[in-house]
Amino acid sequence: MLTNNDNTQSMQSSNNKQRFTGSCHCGSVQFQIDSDLSEVTTCNCSMCRRRNAVMLKVHENDFVLLDGAEVLSKYQFHTHTAQHFFCSQCGIYPFHRKRMAPDSYGINTQCLEGFDAEGIPVRETNGIELP
Ligand SMILES: [Zn+2]
Repeated sequence: MLTNNDNTQSMQSSNNKQRFTGSCHCGSVQFQIDSDLSEVTTCNCSMCRRRNAVMLKVHENDFVLLDGAEVLSKYQFHTHTAQHFFCSQCGIYPFHRKRMAPDSYGINTQCLEGFDAEGIPVRETNGIELP
């Protein structure tokens, strides 16, 4: 029988973690994350300031893109390390590959189904002062 990598990963990462599914506005992009919800972040860099997102950091092992790879567009600027994805159909930013932690994703919490930021500490990151 086939071994299912996704199941193996979710079992390993299920300790203290909650699973959420997320999507863009038109539904073309669908993804799933596991998070311990230890904190959410905001950022004041030129990009984050404009999109005004409250974000959740998840390791790439806790992230699964379920659908929509073909509609995702990528935007990069400055050091071109971070990869900012947006849906080419509806324009929504669902997640990005982080610059300071390239093995992790920043997730737009407003795209998550049933997510409630109440009670989760907010860390304000100072992206504008990164070189
Ligand atoms: Zn969309």
